[in-house]
Amino acid sequence: MRYSLIRKMDISNGQGVGISLFVQGCHFHCQGCFNQETWDFDGGYEWTQEIEDKFIELANKPYIQRISFLGGEPLADENVSTILRIIKRLKLLYPEKKIWIFTGYTWENILHQTSSSALTRLMTVGLSDVLADGQFEIDKQDINHKQVLWVGSSNQRVIDVQKSFKNNKIILCNC
Ligand code: SF4
Repeated sequence: MRYSLIRKMDISNGQGVGISLFVQGCHFHCQGCFNQETWDFDGGYEWTQEIEDKFIELANKPYIQRISFLGGEPLADENVSTILRIIKRLKLLYPEKKIWIFTGYTWENILHQTSSSALTRLMTVGLSDVLADGQFEIDKQDINHKQVLWVGSSNQRVIDVQKSFKNNKIILCNC
């Protein structure tokens, strides 16, 4: 995997104070994407073991409440197995901290695709707490979206992942 940016102290990509990893590479190429420099899977920087260890350590502060993954596309076939490994490590060390994922895949895509990468995607989402789903659609841009702090078009949702699995239907995050 390659990555674009790490934020050690982030207050804009999830609730509360957190850290964020912007991965490199996205196949969706949404018109109006806020982060087009992350589209190229060969751009950015190599994700090494050393960087991963440092990233995990960044979460080891009492005021860090959540870890956010965005991009680029954290759940792309090229990225998802690394993201799964990072989340497993984080959950083991800091089970109380929330995991947020921002993805162009929809909840329905993630639940119903059947390739081996799709299974990894499902496992990754299954370990997370909040999923901001769906591609940004410029013709559905909505500044009155009730979750406008986190998403920009009306098709996108910010989903409470664990409640949604438990209830077998989408429950939006109260965030
Ligand atoms: S899915 Fe996200 S990163 Fe990818 S093109 Fe769309 S808005 Fe940009």
